[in-house]
Amino acid sequence: MNQTETENHYQKALDERKERDHLRHCVSHLPTDDSMIIEVNGKPVVNFSSNDYLGLSRHPEVMQAGIKALEEYGTGTNSSRLITGTTTLTTALEEKIANWYNKESALVFPSGYQANISILPALFDKDTLVFADRLNHASLLDGMTTSHCKWQRYNHCDMNHLEDLLKKAPKHTNKWIVTDSVFSMDGDFPDFSALVSLAKKYNAKTYIDEAHGVGVFGNRASSGLCEHFGVTQDVDLIMGTFSKALGGSGAFITGSQIMIDYLINFCRGFIYTTALPPSVIAGNLKAIEVVQNSPQYKNKLWENINLWNQHSQEDFSAQSPIVPILIVDDKSALQKQQALLNEGLWVHAIRPPTVPEGKQCLRISLSSSHSDSQIISLQNALNTRD
Ligand SMILES: *Cc1c(COP(=O)(O)O)cnc(C)c1O
Repeated sequence: MNQTETENHYQKALDERKERDHLRHCVSHLPTDDSMIIEVNGKPVVNFSSNDYLGLSRHPEVMQAGIKALEEYGTGTNSSRLITGTTTLTTALEEKIANWYNKESALVFPSGYQANISILPALFDKDTLVFADRLNHASLLDGMTTSHCKWQRYNHCDMNHLEDLLKKAPKHTNKWIVTDSVFSMDGDFPDFSALVSLAKKYNAKTYIDEAHGVGVFGNRASSGLCEHFGVTQDVDLIMGTFSKALGGSGAFITGSQIMIDYLINFCRGFIYTTALPPSVIAGNLKAIEVVQNSPQYKNKLWENINLWNQHSQEDFSAQSPIVPILIVDDKSALQKQQALLNEGLWVHAIRPPTVPEGKQCLRISLSSSHSDSQIISLQNALNTRD
């Protein structure tokens, strides 16, 4: 193709997206003194689209830990983990994670997306049979497709369907069940007690992505939904991120020493990339300590979720900080996003292909840092339009 033909080729794809109201672009904003208020186009708006569920991205101790590490270690690690990218801060963070989950070992990755798209291909080969929830996060899906494994999708959170599929699977195959814990768009979650018993019954291994469970669920250690269901020790590999409730950046995986040693040696996304900067590692480490020692943030988040539920219509009720409000079509979703923005409320419209066709929604995320009046004002705005 010549230059024009090539550009036309890509332009056509953009035009198709635009026609269907699926075109995306980045909106930049400025921070303000209130961590839940951002300035968009010169106008302050309440942020209901951030995953900073506990407000830790602006926690003074977390920020201070990052600043201290930045001053001591500099801006970057300057190499990959197996060369000189592992500092004593990294080792301390990995030990802290393993202890948090009561597992033998843990490994830190630069991002959650990168962890999933590189760990799954390291674990699975063409003879592996994977059972995946139909609504799993894109990074899990991309990891599976890159791995060349055989996979079957079960209906969302449907443990009966999962069992039907497991029943039909050959006995001696390497089998894994892969799922989000709290689903990133729907805010719901599977019954992990049932899932883990099925895994045991049919001899399958489990890989759970706790991106939205970490810091939000769990009675004692707030380590996620596996802890909430009391199944942490039954799950083979727990993956989590620092980028949501922990307010930082990066991801981790925790499990047995053998599995972690295997990943250190075979996971290309761990081996061939520059390690996270020390300031980020130090912030992540401090954020876990805050979660472990200061339950007030999680308690406040749940007070806010309860406040939301008390005042909301039944179909808006939340089981987690994530509340999807289904909208009939993409155009109305964008119009509602704009109408809320005009009222000073930043709620992002999520459209296909991020969600399946027909599941376009306004995705609201609640945080411990929202005030009661901010939450009520969003509800009033939603209730005054259909
Ligand atoms: C956000 C998210 C990821 C990706 O994590 P990043 O650190 O943002 O790359 C992975 N899995 C799930 C379920 C997520 O919600």
